[in-house]
Amino acid sequence: MSDNFINLKYIEDILHEAKNAGDAAVSRILDKAENGESLNHNEIAALLVNENGGHLNRIFDIAGKIKRRIYGSRIVMFAPLYVSDHCVNRCAYCSFNRAHDFNRRKLTMDEVREEVKVLEKMGHKRLALEAGESETECPIEYILDCIKTIYDMKFENGEIRRVNVNIAATTTENYRKLKAAGIGTYILFQETYHEPTYSRVHLAGPKKDFAWHLNAFDRAQDAGIDDVGGGVLFGLADPYFEVMGLLIHNEHLEAKYKTGFHTISVPRLCPAEGMSINDFPNPVDDATFAKIVAIIRIAVPFTGMILSTRENHEMRKKLLRLGISQISAGSSTETGGYAKRERNEKANPQFMVNDDRSALSIISELIDDGYIPSFCTACYRGGRTGDRFMSLAKSAEIGNVCLPNALMTLCEYSMDYGDAAFREKTAAIIEKEIPNIANEAVRQKTIENVKKIRTGNERDFFV
Ligand code: SAM
Ligand code: SF4
Repeated sequence: MSDNFINLKYIEDILHEAKNAGDAAVSRILDKAENGESLNHNEIAALLVNENGGHLNRIFDIAGKIKRRIYGSRIVMFAPLYVSDHCVNRCAYCSFNRAHDFNRRKLTMDEVREEVKVLEKMGHKRLALEAGESETECPIEYILDCIKTIYDMKFENGEIRRVNVNIAATTTENYRKLKAAGIGTYILFQETYHEPTYSRVHLAGPKKDFAWHLNAFDRAQDAGIDDVGGGVLFGLADPYFEVMGLLIHNEHLEAKYKTGFHTISVPRLCPAEGMSINDFPNPVDDATFAKIVAIIRIAVPFTGMILSTRENHEMRKKLLRLGISQISAGSSTETGGYAKRERNEKANPQFMVNDDRSALSIISELIDDGYIPSFCTACYRGGRTGDRFMSLAKSAEIGNVCLPNALMTLCEYSMDYGDAAFREKTAAIIEKEIPNIANEAVRQKTIENVKKIRTGNERDFFV
């Protein structure tokens, strides 16, 4: 049964009303946020519509503190893998939409292996599998084959250890099959929670059905997938409305399934073939975007936040400080794009990426900036998903789990994919961070494992 928990008038009224919150009220809301108290809808809305520079600086400051307290310096790394660009939908913003005429393709299993080889050479351990929607060209069995092909591949330096999946909303039965295939997070962007805008930009195909799309995570949860990742495509409707929609969706899932979003993605609309960016009247400027990321971090401190290479280097750097905990690196948004890049062929992406640096240079710079790029996939492999992951995230134990895992996987990455200079700077950051592991036994074990990774062929240690 479909469930429309997004009440357009309720959100519009709250945002309207929030404009009346005076400086004293906003200061009190920020005091609450600073004390770690959770904020209600009216309070979040007041922060969103606020334009006072002083308050904004405090929002950034609080978000940064929450980010450092919960996530430390860790940044989880991943890459997208596009397997098919056949699509029956007409999403006005996407170059894969069925009205756009181009040479479509779907990878054969050999081609999937080619792509994964290139991704593995970059050191990736975690992928997000992406596809357009087509029951005939890209049925669920094809997606399952891709997942199996990826998990079956073993390399000298390891393997892809977690496949997250970003495919169109589907049936409970298909979600059961995805669960059985061992996926990590099931990711689906609502695109927009504003139903009139949703209808305007989804012109044809199954995705046109707002309720079908909105209830996809309920079906996924009913099928046993307890790690789900939401998101909106910023640039379609009023961004403040979208943030309220995201939070209400999260609360709906928490109330019904005891776990909300594992992650929230914050893609911003990019130019793409087959669409004109000028047709979208709600662009989100950099300053508003930074404010939104910080407010999401404050509103849902324990939900991971994902940023893609849609954002440029400078913006990524800024947003990492405000709340982002996962980023992609070395990405291609084209079906077969990684192998094509190896052959120096011209790219034909789903949308233009704005950070086209290599994975190694992104990772290297993260270290220079004091971050710990993490290739950890431990929680999902140890069955710590859904509410079990959330209890870990909310406890002080997170530092005794995520930090050692980040350090051990980074050490592994440096040995297998880095040069001497890279290894040296990795060693320095590992040295600096190890004392921050509070649990004595875990700290000693981490020191031992790091030694084993450096001196032998042992890999894949995790807590
Ligand atoms: N086809 C599936 C779907 O639509 O849910 C998932 C895969 S689709 C390749 C992944 C996401 O790309 C979409 O959810 C959409 O938000 C995003 N996207 C499409 N066109 C975009 C554009 N021009 N700029 C930025 N993101 C875009
Ligand atoms: Fe197809 Fe997804 Fe692109 Fe829409 S966003 S046209 S469903 S690939």
